[in-house]
Amino acid sequence: MSTGDDLLKKVISHCKEYGFVFPSSEIYDGLSATYDYGPNGVELKNNLKEYWWKAMVQMHENIVGLDASIFMHSSTWKASGHLEAFNDPLIDNKDSKKRYRADVLIEEHIEKIRAKIQKEVKKAAKKFGGSFEEAMFLETNPRVQKYQNQIASIESKMKHLLDDEDLKGLKQLIEELGIADPVSGSKNWTDVRQFNLMFSTELGSVASGANKVYLRPETAQGIFVNFANVQKTGRMKIPFGIAQTGKAFRNEIIARQFIFRMREFEQMEMQFFVKPGTEITHYENWKKKRMRWHESLGLGSEKYRIHDHIKLAHYANAACDIEYDFPMGFKELEGVHSRTDFDLKGHEKESGKKLQYFDPEENESYTPYVVETSIGLDRLFLAVISAAFNEETLEDGTQRTVLNIPTFLAPVKAVVMPLTKKDGLPEKAREILSALQPNMICKYDEKDSIGKRYRRQDAVGTPYCITVDHETLENGTVTIRERDSMNQDRVSAQNLTDLLQEKTNQASILSKLH
Ligand code: ATP
Repeated sequence: MSTGDDLLKKVISHCKEYGFVFPSSEIYDGLSATYDYGPNGVELKNNLKEYWWKAMVQMHENIVGLDASIFMHSSTWKASGHLEAFNDPLIDNKDSKKRYRADVLIEEHIEKIRAKIQKEVKKAAKKFGGSFEEAMFLETNPRVQKYQNQIASIESKMKHLLDDEDLKGLKQLIEELGIADPVSGSKNWTDVRQFNLMFSTELGSVASGANKVYLRPETAQGIFVNFANVQKTGRMKIPFGIAQTGKAFRNEIIARQFIFRMREFEQMEMQFFVKPGTEITHYENWKKKRMRWHESLGLGSEKYRIHDHIKLAHYANAACDIEYDFPMGFKELEGVHSRTDFDLKGHEKESGKKLQYFDPEENESYTPYVVETSIGLDRLFLAVISAAFNEETLEDGTQRTVLNIPTFLAPVKAVVMPLTKKDGLPEKAREILSALQPNMICKYDEKDSIGKRYRRQDAVGTPYCITVDHETLENGTVTIRERDSMNQDRVSAQNLTDLLQEKTNQASILSKLH
């Protein structure tokens, strides 16, 4: 089984070879940190989006959808604090000329210390065997204690420096910790500078500063500025949520690791408006609900962990990341944030319009608090496809590459294949395909041997292959072959639509979320 960098490399090349993800503008040698989704990729992405949308909007009577524009009035970004504070502290290495986020360099240093703790745990577990108690060991082992104290001290220093925007202090900390450029090993650093991540452009034909607009760096603000519109027109009662999916743009300092960190990406966000004072209960509830949603994808619950923020953003009073064990290790997949009334108050002040809610039960008006769930669709795509990628050695010694994508997310649900290209089999196969097409994405394939056709479908994660042979003409039955087990069954062609729908639809998975 491939892991780490090796797995990531294989996934990237597999995604390209099988039409999932291409580098953007590849004929011009690509554009850094932008990618295009190919024919299979767009289907998988749409299925992920649909599953999120249904779980949020269709499954909650108090959550509604929205599709706000990417361009927004530039005052939006003043009110939200993005113009002033949507910065990353960047640092360059003078020798390698590579650019880094200062906080990420420090976090990676902390991860290295964490890895040392894990090493001690492994060593001790081996030494003590069955009598080993990990919790006790972590609490009492002096070496582990030393590492834990180091981590706590670095985290607390970094939090204060970031809170105070002490850029000199950040550089000092990097030097104190002896952090070297991961590429060149050099410790020759420039000063730390703040860098705003928003892209700007001009609206209309007048090229003056007055028409400057920004490409939204998050979809959330489109929801906040529409709070009153949605609440009033839908007569929504608090607590209620507004969900939205769409593109967001950030001029990331370091954009590496394939579709994990891009400059143009897609977010799926939900803002839940609640009564002030109840936000932490809702926050804890959404944390649990989102974890349950992730676990319903079937990638394995050990692949997730929650990372509670020590450094809270200026707008938050509680926040965590749901991290996923990507090929590069555990990294943020989704954020759950309790954003207080920061955004609505900011927009009230900037626009002069009231963004309040009249609570009929309390007989009073107030500015709601907000709990948000925010997930990157591209990161979710990477999580699913890297978990699905498998190179298997079969019983007969041959190899196959298979994407074990959960059936309800698979780009193509079934492929219909005539055994041969003659005797009326292609016509019969096309007839069966036509009956399936209105219900799900199905394809037709008559090229090469059946074995080769199966391999092609395994590689793109098609869960079912339907073979039409001479027996089909006689008694109306077909062979259905399942991707993961490779088991084959004979079933009536007439029952295929119902059978495939039952095996591949999202409804049965969604119903478990209640
Ligand atoms: P990071 O710390 O990794 O930069 P963030 O904390 O800035 O992420 P949020 O602002 O909370 O991210 O955005 C919500 C979600 O949007 C993230 O959990 C992530 O899945 C996704 N996301 C953010 N930036 C990017 C990006 N550059 N490329 C792809 N997805 C992204």
